Amino acid sequence: MSDFQYLTPGRAAIFKDRYVTKVTDCINPYQKGANADIGIIGLPVSKSSISPSLAADAPNTIRNALNAYSTYSGEQNHDYKDTTILDFGDVYTHPTNLEETTERLYISVKEMLQTNSCNRYIMLGGDHGVSYPSIRAFQEYFGRVGVIQLDAHHDVRNLEDGGRTNGTPFRSLLVGGFLNGENLSQIGIRDFANAKVYNEYVKNKGVAVYTMNDVDRIGIVPIIQKEMERLAQKVDFIYLSVDMDVVDQAFAPGCPAIGPGGFTSRELLSSITVVAKHPKVKAMDIVEIDPSKDVRDITCRLAAHAMMRFMYTN
Ligand code: CA
Repeated sequence: MSDFQYLTPGRAAIFKDRYVTKVTDCINPYQKGANADIGIIGLPVSKSSISPSLAADAPNTIRNALNAYSTYSGEQNHDYKDTTILDFGDVYTHPTNLEETTERLYISVKEMLQTNSCNRYIMLGGDHGVSYPSIRAFQEYFGRVGVIQLDAHHDVRNLEDGGRTNGTPFRSLLVGGFLNGENLSQIGIRDFANAKVYNEYVKNKGVAVYTMNDVDRIGIVPIIQKEMERLAQKVDFIYLSVDMDVVDQAFAPGCPAIGPGGFTSRELLSSITVVAKHPKVKAMDIVEIDPSKDVRDITCRLAAHAMMRFMYTN
């Protein structure tokens, strides 16, 4: 028996409605032998970001933001309270050696996959550099990968000017032979955020590129549907990489590279719903959120909602 009626030592006092399940109620730490629908891992790295970034702090802020939401979808008339989630925690990074850190991300994602414990996985960045070791690990485990990259930028910068950064992950994947250019779709590419040479680079590699003008003209749902069908015929599984700066600065103020003319939050969520419906989808990463630049957790709450669309779409 507790000594107290209204106190739980060491715990915050949080209101509990007996009819409501919070997303956080469904998350358990990974233990050997455990199985679940979804696995979550934090990749807390942003030291190699070109613009100053504390995106390494995002995994925990996004996890906390999940506490704002219930598991019930009125649209689908379904309560997802029985969808199970395992949290693998955050990768312990090296404080100064970036190559060593990249290797640890790769090893950790691979170790997570080798547990064979979950149907799908969510990686929480970190800056976009984390997608390089993450996608590399996934393609080693699941075979030929198709990637839907929602991003304002191509992320294929040269390595001579700054080495591996958050501007180079897709170049590293293409050059390393881990990803075939024809199996990459870059959607949401924005004006005045890239260079001509990088646009030509991805086109020469056979990458499918959709600009914001294409999104305006065609609509985001038809674009994603078309690319999912195209990729699904060619690859063993599909990986969704969500750079939050694809979203307009009005809806995602916490990104280091904010800008106007991007996705609305609804366009982001609709995109994820279309992707999540496809059986070949295995993974999503969410990157480029710096909680120290966020306003009222707007960007982290959008990321949490994006996770729920990914986890809770039938
Ligand atoms: Ca990016």
